[in-house]
Amino acid sequence: MWEKLRIGLGHDSHRLGPNGPLRLGGISIPHDHHAVGHSDADVLLHAITDALLGAAGAGDIGQCFPDTDPANRGRDSRDMLRLAWHPLVEAGWRIQQLDCIVFAQRPKLLPYWPTIRVEIANTLTHPLATVRPEQIGVKAKTGEGVGHIGRQEAIAAQCVALVWSN
Ligand code: MG
Repeated sequence: MWEKLRIGLGHDSHRLGPNGPLRLGGISIPHDHHAVGHSDADVLLHAITDALLGAAGAGDIGQCFPDTDPANRGRDSRDMLRLAWHPLVEAGWRIQQLDCIVFAQRPKLLPYWPTIRVEIANTLTHPLATVRPEQIGVKAKTGEGVGHIGRQEAIAAQCVALVWSN
């Protein structure tokens, strides 16, 4: 069975700009900064998308959704995650587990994790395969006030995905 288990790693970062809200994990979080990008700049969903595409050997988010394509401007990253993952479900892939880290000096994200886990699970759920919030781990690290994360110049996220197929 081991040849049918795959892992994928995703990483993303975006510059922060003044004024909120902060788009993260498919929700809008009240904050004094927002992530700057061609799409809605949701680093967590971008890292998850790349981890899942990588695990299935299906390329990466830049190949699927080029930032030169006007259709991706301001795009809701939940749409991109859905469009990337659902064809893989139809090809037989299933999620065992995701584990994610968001690197952000502020805001405190702990209160938002339950909502974000439900949002991600709902986005990944397909008629052929339900994903439960319990399969999605999320945690946050500050930059300890140091570097581009600590100075609130940027936000970043990482995700590792374990997927399987029959
Ligand atoms: Mg990105």
